[in-house]
Amino acid sequence: METVVTTVRAAVLGMIGSDVEVRTYDPPSAREGAVVVDVLHAGICGTDIHLQDGRLSVPLPVILGHEAVGFVRELGAGVDVDATGAPLSEGDLVVWASSIPCGHCYYCVALTEYSLCEHRRIYGINQSAHVWPQLSGGWAERIYLQPGTAIFRVPETVSGLDVIALGCAGPTIVHGLLGKAEPRTGESVVVQGAGPVGMAAAMYARLAGAGIVVLVGGPSSRIKVAEQLGVCDVAVDLDEYRTPDARLQAVLDAVPGRRGADLVVEATGHPSAVAEGIDMARRGGRYLVVGQYTDHGTTPINPHIVTRKQLEVHGSWAFSAEHYARYIATLPQLTERFDVARLVTEYPLGQVNQALADMRAGVSIKSVLSPAL
Ligand SMILES: [Zn+2]
Ligand SMILES: [Zn+2]
Repeated sequence: METVVTTVRAAVLGMIGSDVEVRTYDPPSAREGAVVVDVLHAGICGTDIHLQDGRLSVPLPVILGHEAVGFVRELGAGVDVDATGAPLSEGDLVVWASSIPCGHCYYCVALTEYSLCEHRRIYGINQSAHVWPQLSGGWAERIYLQPGTAIFRVPETVSGLDVIALGCAGPTIVHGLLGKAEPRTGESVVVQGAGPVGMAAAMYARLAGAGIVVLVGGPSSRIKVAEQLGVCDVAVDLDEYRTPDARLQAVLDAVPGRRGADLVVEATGHPSAVAEGIDMARRGGRYLVVGQYTDHGTTPINPHIVTRKQLEVHGSWAFSAEHYARYIATLPQLTERFDVARLVTEYPLGQVNQALADMRAGVSIKSVLSPAL
C-alpha cells in the first residue's frame, strides 16, 4: 500500500557559504519525453563542496546533486526505452548522465564533443529550483528528468549502492582514462589521489590490464581501504612519504627500470601535484590531468621537462552520455572485481549538512544521501 505523497523533500543551497536546507516542493508529473524518478541514493561529490564555497557560479537556490540513482516513478508519453534501447518500465532502477548538451553549439554540432558544450544543462548544478520543473537535483526524494536526458537501466547484478559509490568519478575516469590516456596492457600506471576519482582511475587501470598500478595519496585510512579493495599493487601513503622527493623515489622503486611510469593520472585537485606528476612519468610517457575540476590557482612547473621527456599531456573535462554508457556497461565487471560499495557512508536527507561536514573532514570517502532512511 503506497501512501499519497503531497510534498517532495529536497536539499537546497540557498546562499553561498551557508548550510543546505531541506525544503518541500509539489510532486511533479512527467510531461511528454520526461521521466520522474524516486531517488534511492544521491552522491555528494567534491564539486558540491566547491559549489557551497562559491568556487563555481551557479543559479540560486539550487537543489544540489549531480549523481543519483533511483526507481522510475512515471514515464512521460513517448518514453519506453532507455538510452541503449532496452525497454524501460515504471519501477526500474535507473541512472542518468548528469548533463544535457544543447545540440546547437560548435562543440555539439561540428565536433560532437558534448562535454565541451557551451550551454550544457547540468542536474544539481546549473538548474535553479525557482525555475520549472524545480526538482532538477538529486538530493531530493524525487527528480524530474527532462527530455534529452540519457537514462540507463542499472544492470541486474549491480546494486544502487554500487552505482553511486564512484558517483561522477566513474564516468569522469571512463572519459579521461579510457577515452584519452588509454592505458595499455602491461603498462605501469601511477595515480595521484585516493579520493573517488583516484580510486576509479586505479580500478579502471587494472581492468584495462595495467601491469602495475601505484596509488599515491592519503590519508592513511583511505590508503588502507584502497589496499583492502585491491585497487593498486603499491600504495604510497602521503602520511608516510611526506616530501615530493620521497614520493618520487617510492614510485621509481615500484616501476620497471626506475624509468618512471608509462602513464600518470592526476586526481588530487591540488595544483602542486602537477609538477610532481610530471616528474613521475617516464620519457615519452603520458600525463592525464583530470583532478583540477575547480580552479585552485596556478602552480610552478618546469616546462623544459615536458619538452625533454616528450611528455604527452591530456586534459579531460567531465563526461557525456557516451562515457556514461561505457561506464554502465563496465560496472558489472568492475563491481565483480572490487567491492566499491565499501567506499560509501550513507546519511538520511535530513543529515545532509553532517554528510557535507564529514566529506570536508575526510571522515568519509564517499558520502551518500538516501532519502528513504
Ligand atoms: Zn561530481
Ligand atoms: Zn552544445
